[in-house]
Amino acid sequence: MHSPSPLTVPPDALFGAHNLPYGVFSTAAGTGRRLGVAYGEHVLDAGAAARATGAPADLTALLTAPSLNPLLAAGRPAWTRVRGALTEWLTADGHRAAVEPCLVPRADVSLHLPFEVADYVDFYASEHHAANLGRIFRPGTEPLTPNWKHLPIGYHGRAGTVVVSGTPVVRPSGQRKAPADPAPDYGPARRLDIEAEVGFVVGAASPQGSRVALADADAHVFGVCLLNDWSARDIQSWETVPLGPFLGKSFATSLSPWVVPLDALSAARIDPPARDTEPLPYLDDRAARPPYGLDISLEVRLNGHVVARPPFAAMYWTYAQMLAHMTVNGASLRPGDLFASGTVSGRDRPTRGALIELTWNGGQPLDLPDGSRRGFLEDGDEVAISATAPGPGGTRIGFGEVAGRILPAR
Ligand code: MN
Repeated sequence: MHSPSPLTVPPDALFGAHNLPYGVFSTAAGTGRRLGVAYGEHVLDAGAAARATGAPADLTALLTAPSLNPLLAAGRPAWTRVRGALTEWLTADGHRAAVEPCLVPRADVSLHLPFEVADYVDFYASEHHAANLGRIFRPGTEPLTPNWKHLPIGYHGRAGTVVVSGTPVVRPSGQRKAPADPAPDYGPARRLDIEAEVGFVVGAASPQGSRVALADADAHVFGVCLLNDWSARDIQSWETVPLGPFLGKSFATSLSPWVVPLDALSAARIDPPARDTEPLPYLDDRAARPPYGLDISLEVRLNGHVVARPPFAAMYWTYAQMLAHMTVNGASLRPGDLFASGTVSGRDRPTRGALIELTWNGGQPLDLPDGSRRGFLEDGDEVAISATAPGPGGTRIGFGEVAGRILPAR
């Protein structure tokens, strides 16, 4: 009896033929970083498969790069060709003998940041998250600021500190000042938090001085990943007046190693929730077909225990609106630009994607199965965020996970 072919993947697999997420991997054999595609329990060495199947030279060149950036820059027609080729290599019997040797067990690979992050922008697109933070920080006033329903609020983050899942996160130090303290002091953050988010990877560039219309968003957005926007709430609350997040967030942002192609999410597209404010025309997506909402279900685990199941379907602003807004002033896009949704939070407590909301600023700590309680993160804590979405024909699309463990301050 011989072992089953790595090309035999059950139809209910999260990394099945309908998904084909891209990543960058290396093996202990030490042949450097290679572009890979997750398939079942294996990773397809995409460059090796292109050579083994005699793919055209331009396509082979895109897949033999050590990062996704050349493929990102190539644009949607190339993405469609590459996805078609990968599907054929993995599913057509005629390629079986050539492709089988190009599959490496996922357990045997190290995964790296899948692309060089160009610019990184983080939004604030969940109405529930924004309203909860308003209630916590501005009690007695309107939970949402007057601009919130007119534009997707965002800030520029630090691209250079985006790290791949599994990278430890050192507890940041900085200026801390609670409202009752007479003056700030300096030391390790005491209120270290997570933000469970969905990230969008820009492929095709756009020139400075131009805008990307809503209807052109899919020509620029290559794929979707998971992101944890680690946030030091004590540093953040003191420094973020009157400008946006800075050192409270720039120490680390974790990214999942697999980028799910937007093409894999056609069955996950849904109407965003009903909005009660008339959008300006450049943000008006009410006639968009297919719609830009995405039915992605997140799960947040703290030390292995599920603490939240945030629904991306509840997000007020869509990725297309974020992209249109990000470029409406003429700002350019570059391959590898990353923009994230902001904390994904639903209406109810178990669907909130940040500890500050789950514990109401630490005042209602979470009880963990080991008997300990958490308001915010302790050293040694590990947070893992995973997600799934509906795929075509009753299949499911997996996003893998983004995980990180907190190391003590240095
Ligand atoms: Mn965030």
